[in-house]
Amino acid sequence: VRAAEALAGGDPTRYGIPFICKTPAQARDFLLGSIKNGNGGKVFTGKAFDNLWYIGLGWVGAWVLKTSDGLILFDTLNNTDEVKTILLPGMKEFGLDPAQIKYIALTHGHGDHFGGAKYLQDTYKPHVLLSDLDWQLIEKRPTEAAEKLPGPTRDMVVKGGDTLTLGDVTIRFLLTPGHTPATVSSFIPVKDKGRPVLVTMAGGSAMWDDSRTTGQYHESFHKLWAAGREAGAEGVVSPHMVMNGGLEKLQQIKDHPDAPNPFVLGKDGYEQFMRVQDQCILANLARTTAWGR
Ligand SMILES: [Zn+2]
Repeated sequence: VRAAEALAGGDPTRYGIPFICKTPAQARDFLLGSIKNGNGGKVFTGKAFDNLWYIGLGWVGAWVLKTSDGLILFDTLNNTDEVKTILLPGMKEFGLDPAQIKYIALTHGHGDHFGGAKYLQDTYKPHVLLSDLDWQLIEKRPTEAAEKLPGPTRDMVVKGGDTLTLGDVTIRFLLTPGHTPATVSSFIPVKDKGRPVLVTMAGGSAMWDDSRTTGQYHESFHKLWAAGREAGAEGVVSPHMVMNGGLEKLQQIKDHPDAPNPFVLGKDGYEQFMRVQDQCILANLARTTAWGR
């Protein structure tokens, strides 16, 4: 943790240190605390790139990617109610027509990511993408949970290395197990004031209280890191803004639209970001191993 803090050089928030360097229990408490007393429970919307918008709550949200042939939505907030009161009004604010959502790319099979998908699937008929094992997470929930939060119907199955092309944009997917059995991470080509930039989106954020899944998370993290480096990634985005100071970055763009985009880290900045988070993940690997879990 000290190594991560030293590397972060006085700006821990933009590296997600207040979340990802904590123990799994502390990280959960941090999020719950932010929902109760901080920005977590508030609505945030903003334009991160020429063709990528964040719409959601402080603690979890959706990303909308605009292509020449419609929209791709990454995640869907917690439920239908949040789609109606947060996502759809947010899209309207930015002139994004929900009828143009052609694909919903879910990061993983947890309710804060797929919760709004059924309503969107029923209403606008987009394709919904998720990995097989994470479709199963949704499908194999106990009846009570499934009745309380109906999931989308299984549609497209994402495998590692798959690509999705819509109009002028091609996204590439990588399976990164650890947070869930087959979390889906993405390589998303965006534009920053006209310049093409590649960003990665790690599909899972929190680690669990055991060395097996934390080890998986660590391995997946390195797979994503290396593939991002190879592809020339220059930035990161996440459905959980706490992973990289995303809310602060959105605000910076609002305050100083002509300044350099804080979501663009550059190739060296991408390396630096991953180096810092790697130390936090190693800390949890050491903790869970030491605890004998
Ligand atoms: Zn999750």
